[in-house]
Amino acid sequence: MNQKHLLIINAGSSSLKLTLATLPNYTVLAAFLAERLGADTPTLTQKAPQSACTPLSTGSSHQQALEACLERLQEQGLLTHEPDAVGHRVVHGGESFTDSALIDEQIITAIDTCSTLAPLHNPANLAGIRAIQTLYPDCPQVAVFDTAFHQSLPQAAYHYAVPRTLYEEHGVRRYGFHGTSHRWILQQASEWLNQAPERTAIISAHLGNGCSVTAVHEGQSVDTSMGLTPLEGLVMGTRSGDVDPGLFDFLLRRGYGAQAIHDMLNRESGLLGLSGVSHDMRTLTKAAADGHEQADLAVNVFCFRLARYIGAMMASLDRLDALVFTGGIGENSATVRQRTLAHLGIFGIAVDETANNQTETDTATSIQASGGPPVLVIPTDEEQMIALDTQRLTNARRTT
Ligand code: ADP
Repeated sequence: MNQKHLLIINAGSSSLKLTLATLPNYTVLAAFLAERLGADTPTLTQKAPQSACTPLSTGSSHQQALEACLERLQEQGLLTHEPDAVGHRVVHGGESFTDSALIDEQIITAIDTCSTLAPLHNPANLAGIRAIQTLYPDCPQVAVFDTAFHQSLPQAAYHYAVPRTLYEEHGVRRYGFHGTSHRWILQQASEWLNQAPERTAIISAHLGNGCSVTAVHEGQSVDTSMGLTPLEGLVMGTRSGDVDPGLFDFLLRRGYGAQAIHDMLNRESGLLGLSGVSHDMRTLTKAAADGHEQADLAVNVFCFRLARYIGAMMASLDRLDALVFTGGIGENSATVRQRTLAHLGIFGIAVDETANNQTETDTATSIQASGGPPVLVIPTDEEQMIALDTQRLTNARRTT
């Protein structure tokens, strides 16, 4: 089969991640990270191959960052012709997208319409799509939505108990995010379990800087912890996760402005807010081990909230084939896994300490003590999931 070169683009509000990979045997040839776009001092780093990891210069727009990456790829002889296709992570697909989509002007309009739900992210994703259209007008592009996997949520799981008009007029409901990662985890877990994804029931805990947990029943997302925005649910690096909605009014009456409250809950809360030290779990578990009480508390609140949510996800399942930890924290922090699982004995879940301390970095590892449902640690790979969707949809186009 012909080798295909794919670009995978994840354009954030002030950042851009670009990966060049080949299929059918997924191989990453190069990866870049541009940060502080839109500011005076944008930075661009090549992350892979390791030998090329040097800071590069870039202009401050998404288009300029993209051009700088492509120039570099051409210099290195890694991209000698137009890519075969480009896959984009798009944050919000609202209720319009239940799957990834081959991009055309109609799809672009629909993504633009969803910008009301993700005002920082969708315009950045569109900037990435437009930049590729300018550079490679004939190259097929695919949008892979963070929300699409969760469109299978039943009404009982996605409605908030607020006046119905908020849903009807403004689309206020729970959407859920990290769908690409949870979908990848479903595939990997079902492979490990040796059963079809559509017959698999898992709880997937994606724990990175953003964190969410999802219940999957017979291959479909049936509940998830993030909601209208990625603020709901678990404790995260700098996001609070759930708080009493009454907090908003409480703070407004004490003179805080709406923007200040928004910033506080999104950027100054979570692990950072609680510990006063760092948003970074590696730093915190180390500080906790060294006796830092607030760091220890932050880790405990994080783990208890997670355990509570895993318990809540059980309400959507009739069995559990596997509980899976993934993301930077889920894959790497034995402390977080151990402290979380310690709360879940009532479900027969228990951790094997030796296995928990010796997980693999590139494949699934089982860490449960004997007798209970499998508890797995599986590395996530959102880029590969986007690449596979991009190939699936561009192939479908060729055959129709
Ligand atoms: P993002 O959501 O930005 O993709 P990642 O999935 O890379 O983030 O996760 C970042 C988190 O993973 C950080 O809190 C980091 O401290 C944590 N992490 C990475 N390695 C370890 C480790 N060895 N021990 C504990 N936490 C780790």
